[in-house]
Amino acid sequence: RESGPSKVGEPKPQKRRVTLTHPDRIYWPDEGITKEGLADYYAEVWPKIAPFIVGRPLALLRCPGGINGQKFFQKHAWNGISKHISQVKDPGKKAEEAMVAINDLDGLMALVQSAALEIHPWGSTVADWDHPDTITMDLDPGEGVAWEAVVAGAHEVRQRLADAGLEAFVKTSGGKGLHVVAPLKPKADWPAVKAFTKALAGAMAADDPEAYVATITKSRRKGRILIDYLRNQRGMTAVAAYSTRARPGAAVSMPVAWEELDQIGPAYFTVLNTPGRLAALDRDPWEDFHAAARPLEVKPPRRR
Ligand code: ATP
Ligand code: MN
Ligand code: MN
Repeated sequence: RESGPSKVGEPKPQKRRVTLTHPDRIYWPDEGITKEGLADYYAEVWPKIAPFIVGRPLALLRCPGGINGQKFFQKHAWNGISKHISQVKDPGKKAEEAMVAINDLDGLMALVQSAALEIHPWGSTVADWDHPDTITMDLDPGEGVAWEAVVAGAHEVRQRLADAGLEAFVKTSGGKGLHVVAPLKPKADWPAVKAFTKALAGAMAADDPEAYVATITKSRRKGRILIDYLRNQRGMTAVAAYSTRARPGAAVSMPVAWEELDQIGPAYFTVLNTPGRLAALDRDPWEDFHAAARPLEVKPPRRR
């Protein structure tokens, strides 16, 4: 396996301790990626993915038979769940079943053992469920939309976030679109963050109705990009940076530099080419992500 040198100041990839049953079980048949191969991938990217999945409520797309078998979205703890996965109670919904969270690499390996082929965190942490530390604007191209238009849409979202004093970063979804992600200092609550993102998406659709829509109505989406702001609502999720996707091609959701967007596509980075990419990068394009967090000032964005 390829393995990049650890950079100074970054935690080293850790050794795994969780036993995998059936390590040779095939998860992505076309690429020949097994359960053990997935564990190796996550051990390698652990220092990168940890800040995005540790200490947050998680929804999991579990696929015990691999990507071509049955899939189910798991939002709650289950019978026989690993002791390495923590069970957390939503303080706002005391009667609800426990949700799942992880604290360390053993927790991530337990997710692999549980056939979690996609990891979808909340935009807030279990330390502060009600104040998001992340905005995710999900760009969903309708039928016939060119990649260049998706990239232009992402830049437009970035500009509008900048107008509101927020720095934005971009990642591939590993599917069809892009996610523009802004780190927040937890201050505004979910309703305020949702209202802000709804206004941002609505303003884009109002200013360029041929290019963007802000509502899910299917008939309106052909040839346009849905600016899906509904990830920014309490209890909703978006796929984590570095999470794998349970789709053909074994793509991952990859943080990239804004300048890279022209040379790639939404599923360009995969389980197979990620170790090489990380080893070759001399600077993580999301290096400043956490330092860039600012509080959302709660007033609607300026219409331009
Ligand atoms: P793509 O680029 O193909 O759109 P995506 O991950 O953005 O990939 P979406 O369908 O736009 O896929 O969904 C955005 C996010 O909404 C997902 O990453 C996931 O966290 C959440 N989501 C989607 N479908 C479900 C579902 N059935 N149940 C729970 N959450 C979902
Ligand atoms: Mn999407
Ligand atoms: Mn979406």
